[in-house]
Amino acid sequence: MKRKKILVTSALPYANGSIHLGHLVEYVQTDIWVRFQKMQGHECLYVCADDTHGTPIMLRAEKEGISPEILISRVWLEHFEDFSSFHVNFDHYGSTNSEETREFACAIYLELKSQGLIEARTIEQYYDPVKQMFLPDRFIKGECPKCGAKDQYGDNCEVCGAAYTPSDLRNPYSAVSGAKPELRESEHYFFRLSDERCRTFLREWTRSGTLQQEASNKMQEWLGSDLSDWDISRDAPYFGFEIPDAPGKYFYVWLDAPIGYMGSFMKLCKERGIDFEEYWKKGSETELYHFIGKDILYFHALFWPAMLEHAGFRTPTRLFAHGFLTVNGEKMSKSRGTFITARSYAEHVKNTEYLRYYYASKLNGTMEDIDLNLEDFVLKVNSDLIGKYINIASRCAGFIAKRFDGMLSSSISRENLNWLEKAFSETFDEEGRPVDRGTYIAACYSERNYAKAVREIMSVADVVNVYINDLKPWELAKEAGKDEKLHEACTVFLNAFRKLTIFLKPVLPELAEKVEHFLSVHPLRWEDLGNLLPPGHRINEYSHLMTRLDAKSIEAMVEANRESLKPVGHSPARHAESQIHHQPVLETISIDDFSKVDLRVARIVKAEHVEGAEKLLKLTLDIGSEKRTVFAGIKSAYSPESLEGRLTVMVANLAPRKMKFGMSEGMVLAAGGEAGLFILSPDQGAVPGMRVK
Ligand SMILES: [Zn+2]
Repeated sequence: MKRKKILVTSALPYANGSIHLGHLVEYVQTDIWVRFQKMQGHECLYVCADDTHGTPIMLRAEKEGISPEILISRVWLEHFEDFSSFHVNFDHYGSTNSEETREFACAIYLELKSQGLIEARTIEQYYDPVKQMFLPDRFIKGECPKCGAKDQYGDNCEVCGAAYTPSDLRNPYSAVSGAKPELRESEHYFFRLSDERCRTFLREWTRSGTLQQEASNKMQEWLGSDLSDWDISRDAPYFGFEIPDAPGKYFYVWLDAPIGYMGSFMKLCKERGIDFEEYWKKGSETELYHFIGKDILYFHALFWPAMLEHAGFRTPTRLFAHGFLTVNGEKMSKSRGTFITARSYAEHVKNTEYLRYYYASKLNGTMEDIDLNLEDFVLKVNSDLIGKYINIASRCAGFIAKRFDGMLSSSISRENLNWLEKAFSETFDEEGRPVDRGTYIAACYSERNYAKAVREIMSVADVVNVYINDLKPWELAKEAGKDEKLHEACTVFLNAFRKLTIFLKPVLPELAEKVEHFLSVHPLRWEDLGNLLPPGHRINEYSHLMTRLDAKSIEAMVEANRESLKPVGHSPARHAESQIHHQPVLETISIDDFSKVDLRVARIVKAEHVEGAEKLLKLTLDIGSEKRTVFAGIKSAYSPESLEGRLTVMVANLAPRKMKFGMSEGMVLAAGGEAGLFILSPDQGAVPGMRVK
């Protein structure tokens, strides 16, 4: 067989959030395919990267008071660890914020420009006059033009589902500063996808077997109507790459993120001395596959190949689009606890191969959504992996260790060899024609129909278990003079177990490694299906390969991910985060003005209800040198018991104020507005009386 050179990518996760079980459908799917290709002996390289640029990253970093570079390096590590814990084995996991990606982005842009495929156009966009920046649609909020719901995003209403543009919103405001946005003109750069050269190329390309049938049909539909040009620039301030001949203009996601595939691969080439050109030049004989979600199909099937084609690079061999994940038949939901992060799964369930197996048993290579039914998940893992597969080894291994000094028998009878041959080689395809089982399962993997592969593998496991129940090693062990029979039976079943492990290795890489150690064999390849363990081979002592999946760990995981439902429908913190109206910052004061305010750490030694007061609590505060009485309007947010003993910060030199209920001698600091009230606390170690500066 010819050794192929294959480059594989998964879509780049955005560096603005955690990896969750929905993301993992794609990475697990890709990783299984890559591992399978590697087992076949091909040179298969798998690269990916964090997508790091854009306004959301810039604003989040600003909010956290750190640079975008620090934010993305922190998220990179988190993403990388999460993928590793699910055994997603990239050859290189990079970042789009790399010199390599910048160089490719600039070179591709300049080449497209010289081809007349880049055009500058003046457009109108909402501008935040306080923050002094143009606003992406998601950062403009206002009242839904259809149902009047407040605080809706600029693209669609979460209450009535209406879709619209930001200019349709009533009373729009900037989600960044709270200011009323203004429509302003700006010059943007566009990639001319509507150019006849692109259409001609794409009509051909999308029909040449590069897409799944359903995707190809969709593209013909789109190609039948006018293709719109793609906006590829944004104005400063922006976190990204500045366009080489346009100061103050930055490459928007389309001319930046996917080029990260190339940038990340270039890094790998530098590390390992691989020839980049061989993989990316026009007419390359290597293969290039992109695994993507169906939501980014339009982009990957039209814009991306058109851009590569006209910038002088090769185009993808194939795109593999998949559907989304539902949990228990519904969209993942924070209130139901089914919006589960990779990290939370790893903490509660621990064994990540259970999920790899379950996903594999559902993935069929189409764009259909797949469902993680949590009850079915537990049943399937326990009945298939433990009941059918692991059980084969656990029922035979002990006899080899105890009775035969860890050595397999030195010969297998013709009858048993025939049985092994038949169990692992003979099956039938959909049309009822006899086919070789190994070849059949390999084809299923290759077509990304892992569900079919898993069904076939489990049906072999069933055949093996029937034979174990026929021969009954545990009874042979009790009978005198049956040692040889027992020895041979266990040897046959461990050979069967080894072959099943080869079939399952792309899905269960860690378990396969444990089996390789237990059987004392080199890393298993697909071609090892053609041979048996050597006669008289010594194996290692059996230790538990995998334990049953405990339903309790699933319950605990769901509980941990369930966001408590407060009367407002959100937990207070999230509510505050999503609903906050940013008020403009007040006029500048000098340091002298500020130092007139004497802020002190105070301990709330007593907190009481005030009779007849609806909003007030009476607090007794210890500021080291003295005690103060303060009436604070925080009754709606705190019970007196929850406050006693805790530290806060007070204004100690505020003029005392006579109130209906007594004298208030200062003020406690709290943040808040309509979303709730949050009193301030100093960090651990502070003591009453310390000055806050
Ligand atoms: Zn609405």
